[in-house]
Amino acid sequence: MRALQLVEDRRLEAVELSPPPAPGEGEVTVRIDAVALNHIDVWGWRGMAFAKRKMPLVVGAEASGTVETLGPGVSGLVPGQLVAIYGARTCGTCKNCREGRDNLCGHVSGVHGFHLDGFAQEKVNLPARLLVPAPPGVDAVAAAVTPVTFGTVEHMLFDNARLQPGETVLVQAGGSGIGTAAIQLAKRMGCEVITTVGSDDKIEKAKALGADHVINYRTDRFEGVVRKITKKKGVDVVFEHVGADTWAGSMLCMKRGARLVTCGSTSGVSTQMNLMQLFQQQLKIFGSFGCRMENMVNAMDKMAAGVVHPVIDTEVTFETISKALERMEGRDVFGKIILRMS
Ligand SMILES: [Zn+2]
Repeated sequence: MRALQLVEDRRLEAVELSPPPAPGEGEVTVRIDAVALNHIDVWGWRGMAFAKRKMPLVVGAEASGTVETLGPGVSGLVPGQLVAIYGARTCGTCKNCREGRDNLCGHVSGVHGFHLDGFAQEKVNLPARLLVPAPPGVDAVAAAVTPVTFGTVEHMLFDNARLQPGETVLVQAGGSGIGTAAIQLAKRMGCEVITTVGSDDKIEKAKALGADHVINYRTDRFEGVVRKITKKKGVDVVFEHVGADTWAGSMLCMKRGARLVTCGSTSGVSTQMNLMQLFQQQLKIFGSFGCRMENMVNAMDKMAAGVVHPVIDTEVTFETISKALERMEGRDVFGKIILRMS
């Protein structure tokens, strides 16, 4: 079967691998339909000084697939069913896993496509409990952007930041995959959405997703514009994932008692923070990674209802995926990049 492996930094290779054996107890053989790219794929592809990885490594952290064969003891799934695949290999037995909070698993063996072989391969055996059935109306691409993209944003906005209707939200990098999801999910809740983008051609696209105000951070100081829009008050919630380049500005955009939730640091992992601002303004900062199983269910229910939708930048093949990773690295994308496997 075909697979795409990372063989060294910045070098992907299409290879032939043996298909998986018959699924074991509690496992399912899944035929992968679509893989969605995320910044974690960019990190893995270009190499990270602080993360040791095995190579060669099958890439792809976020995917959908079709159930093919059920192993012994599996119930609740049927062959032919479309599923969204949880992106990390969690233990399934600790308290957090049993309560569906797999992103807090104490015995996680890694993230697929980053520490462990990922989903850019035709078939894979997976524990049934890490497969979330897609409801009618959700297609393979929508299911593919559920586990990392929409699931992460659901967890950030609703579990961590506890976003309320009527609040004002600043979504950093609104043209990114998670940015396009955050604009839609916040708007659907009845919030006022301010977002930043890196080029003028993304302004209308962000508005079309529901953003009320769009700031080109390359031509305007976003923190100044946000203060003007909010009449010097600041926003209730900041959705961060850019990191070093935007952190100080993001904190300046916060109202007293506001919440900032972050799931990434695409521009760098270290930053300085004004602690006096943190405590005097009583700011709340949440680190967020991955999602709960229920976040995936909720995200797909909203997609099935047609109130949010995946925003697709391009579809790529094994041959064109490296160019796509370069474009992501340069922030030259709007929405998700999809690799179709079948
Ligand atoms: Zn666990």
